[in-house]
Amino acid sequence: MKHQLMELPFNLQALEPYISKETLQYHHGKHHATYVNNLNNLIENTKYEAMSLEEIIKTSKGGIFNNAAQVYNHNVYFQGMCSKNTEPSEELRKKIEEEFGSMDAFKQAFLNAAVTLFGSGWVWLSVTPLGSLIIEQMSNANNPLLGKNTPLMTCDVWEHAYYIGYRNARATYLENWWELINWNFVSANYKNV
Ligand code: MN
Repeated sequence: MKHQLMELPFNLQALEPYISKETLQYHHGKHHATYVNNLNNLIENTKYEAMSLEEIIKTSKGGIFNNAAQVYNHNVYFQGMCSKNTEPSEELRKKIEEEFGSMDAFKQAFLNAAVTLFGSGWVWLSVTPLGSLIIEQMSNANNPLLGKNTPLMTCDVWEHAYYIGYRNARATYLENWWELINWNFVSANYKNV
């Protein structure tokens, strides 16, 4: 099966001024696209050709794993942003307040995990098998599909996600990224757990 680069659910200017057209041209049009192309080349004539992206992530290692996971991670990241003002569902908001104290305390905890992740990686909000919310810091291409947790949203803290617009200022990128969260997407994922 050939994997396809997902289409962005917004136009290239939609996230400005927080995330620029130029950043999206590189991040989606070059980085994300390269992971898709690498994956398709690497799985040609292997058993992975017949698998879904999720199955490849759970059963592969090395280059195939890295590229498959990066395709998946960017799919979640780009679907998780939008230019409209959205709010968490009642159900998700109540759960966040129950576990983190308040939406603001959750924001601080999530962004702190993203600021302090050393090197390249991803920060995830996931649901554990017992139904608790958990913030997970993951290096490189790793994601919650490797364990038992179900991912709800993610933030990309690889430098390529922010270097064009923010240079080394990861914390400023994160504060602005927070304003772009597509809570409709995150709430729908929570409902489907
Ligand atoms: Mn990225």
